[in-house]
Amino acid sequence: MKVTPKVKLIRYTADPEATVALAAKLCYSDRELDDLTDNIMAKDNSTFIARLTDMGHLSPIEHASFTFSVEGVSRAFLAQITRHRIASFSVRSQRYVSEDSFNYVVPPAIEALGAAAVARYVGQMDTIMDWYRDWQSALGRGEKSNEDARFILPNACETKMIFTMNARELMHFFELRCCNRAQWEIRNVAWQMLGEVLKVAPNLFRDCGPGCLRGECPEGAKSCGKRAEVKARRDEILKASADKKSQKSDK
Ligand SMILES: Cc1cc2nc3c(=O)[nH]c(=O)nc-3n(C[C@H](O)[C@H](O)[C@H](O)COP(=O)(O)OP(=O)(O)OC[C@H]3O[C@@H](n4cnc5c(N)ncnc54)[C@H](O)[C@@H]3O)c2cc1C
Repeated sequence: MKVTPKVKLIRYTADPEATVALAAKLCYSDRELDDLTDNIMAKDNSTFIARLTDMGHLSPIEHASFTFSVEGVSRAFLAQITRHRIASFSVRSQRYVSEDSFNYVVPPAIEALGAAAVARYVGQMDTIMDWYRDWQSALGRGEKSNEDARFILPNACETKMIFTMNARELMHFFELRCCNRAQWEIRNVAWQMLGEVLKVAPNLFRDCGPGCLRGECPEGAKSCGKRAEVKARRDEILKASADKKSQKSDK
């Protein structure tokens, strides 16, 4: 069955912006920690947070962590996201879980070719599923057979994962993966993740996204040349996350 990505922010550091502000202010303050904590928690830290990122004092940002659940993504996506080393991952196993009825991702470019192309692709997935089942029964089923039968599976095969990144790593991730030069699947997930964290820490992530949002495109000659489009996309999710926040506070 065809799947599409489902991205959720499932847990995050309580008061992420205040936690970051506290860690940063501690560096410059001679006050007692309890006193400083009360002061920070009672205050609006938005200006301070903005100054912190401008100053490049980024280590306090590592104290806020965000945990996502992601499903409906391919094993190709898995290969890319796990290249980000400052993150913790738990991924559904292809040894313990049988893939005899695996779901799969259909690339939009194949969908754009029309119904006949999609039917061809789906037929190929069904064939691979048959091959997988053949190997499972040849190898005796169970964990040991899954382990080897999976070698026949495609990159399109769905995976599910939970991962945690701190805010500093997320900023780096958004810079690389929201960029139009990134592959479409991880780019779509990255933008959804950005939308999620903006709802809970808008001051921390307000300027996040590809490098072109903060200055010259770092891709140089390989630039997509679509800065205005990228900025409009970021502004749209900024607005959506602000609207969601105000709806919540109205309740
Ligand atoms: C458009 C695009 C195309 C790509 N194409 C390819 C490709 O063709 N082939 C390929 O293999 N990969 C490719 N990659 C993956 C890329 O090379 C990185 O592995 C991936 O983006 C993770 O980035 P990172 O290493 O900066 O980040 P992370 O692992 O998230 O680390 C964050 C930062 O921590 C620091 N850091 C982490 N570990 C170390 C370390 N061991 N030593 C020193 N500093 C460290 C670095 O400053 C790093 O930027 C591509 C990525 C993108 C965005």
